[in-house]
Amino acid sequence: MTVTLEVVRALPKIELHRHLEGTVRPGTVHALAVANGIDLPVDDMRTLYTYRDLRHFLDVYETVCSTLVSPADFHRIAYESVHDAAATGIVHTEMFFTPHVHLSRGVPAAHVWDGITAGLRDGIAETGIGVRMIMDCTKFLGPALAQIELDLFTSLPDPDGFLVGIGGDGIEAGVDDAALAPVFAEAARRGLRRTYHAGEFSARSVADAIRVLGCERVDHGPLVVEDPALAAEAADRGIVFTLCPSSDVLISQVYPSVREHSLPRMLEAGLHVTVNSDDPAMLGRDISDEYVTVVEQGLVTAEQLRDIAVGAADACWLPDADKTALRGRMTAAWSAFC
Ligand SMILES: [Zn+2]
Repeated sequence: MTVTLEVVRALPKIELHRHLEGTVRPGTVHALAVANGIDLPVDDMRTLYTYRDLRHFLDVYETVCSTLVSPADFHRIAYESVHDAAATGIVHTEMFFTPHVHLSRGVPAAHVWDGITAGLRDGIAETGIGVRMIMDCTKFLGPALAQIELDLFTSLPDPDGFLVGIGGDGIEAGVDDAALAPVFAEAARRGLRRTYHAGEFSARSVADAIRVLGCERVDHGPLVVEDPALAAEAADRGIVFTLCPSSDVLISQVYPSVREHSLPRMLEAGLHVTVNSDDPAMLGRDISDEYVTVVEQGLVTAEQLRDIAVGAADACWLPDADKTALRGRMTAAWSAFC
C-alpha cells in the first residue's frame, strides 16, 4: 500500500508529543498581536515560521507566546488546536503546555488554565476527539520553579480531568535532571504520569529520565541507541519514546537529515516508539506529514508505520477501558490500510 498524505490523513492517529504553543496558526498570532499591541518581527505572516537557526526558532516561539494574554486568547489557541488536530485525523492527543513562558510575563495561572480548558471543551464538543494535557516545567530553571508550577496547576479546577501528566522541556545540555526528582515524585503522588524531553544531546538524560525521575515516556530520545545497555533497559521496562524526527533535524539538529534518524535502530533495539509532530504550526508539518516522511525517507515500512500508529494506543494515558476501545478502533482502521 502506498503511504500518501491523503491516505494517512484519513486514518485515525494518536499524537503524544504536541506543544499547544507550537500549534498556533500564523493568522492567529497576527490577530492576537494586533489586539494586544504586540510588535511582530515580520510584516508578512507567511514568513513568521521560517528560521535561520535554533536561537531564531526560540525567539519566534517567545514572540508567539507574547501574544497570549487573556483567557480568551488561550481559549482561541486551544480551540483552534483541537480543530487542526481533528482535521489531520488525530482522534486522541496528549498535549503539552509550558507555564513558565506565560507566568514569567505576569499572566496569572488561572487565566492560562481556564482559557485552555474552556477552548479544549468547545473544540472537543465540535470534533469529538480526545484531549489530555501535560504540564511541562522548564528544565534549566530548576526544581523550585517547577514545584511552584506543580502547586499552581494541580490546585486549579479541572472537572474534565484534562491534566494527566508532568513533563520537562527546554535546553537539554548542562541541565541537572536529577534535581527535579523530588518534584516529579510529588507529581506522581498527586496522580500525574511522568515524561521528559531527553536524548537529543546525549543518552545520559534518557537514563536520568527513566531511572531518577521515574518517567514512563521519553520525549524525543533518539540518542538512547548510543548506549546499548540503556536501550535494552528501556525496552525491558516498556518505556515509550515520543519521537519527532523532523523536529530532531530542524530544531535541535541532532541529524543533518531525517534519513539519518535513529528510528530504525530504535525499532531494532525493541523500543516502543511513536511518531509525532512536536510543533505542527511552527514547523509547518503535522503528524500526517511526519508519518509520510518516515516512510518516504526509508526509516520504516508501511507495515511498521501501521504498528507504530496502533501501538500509540498502548502508550497513551487514558483509563484502561478507554485505551482498549481506542486500540480496537485503531487496529480496525489501520488493518484495513495494510
Ligand atoms: Zn517537544
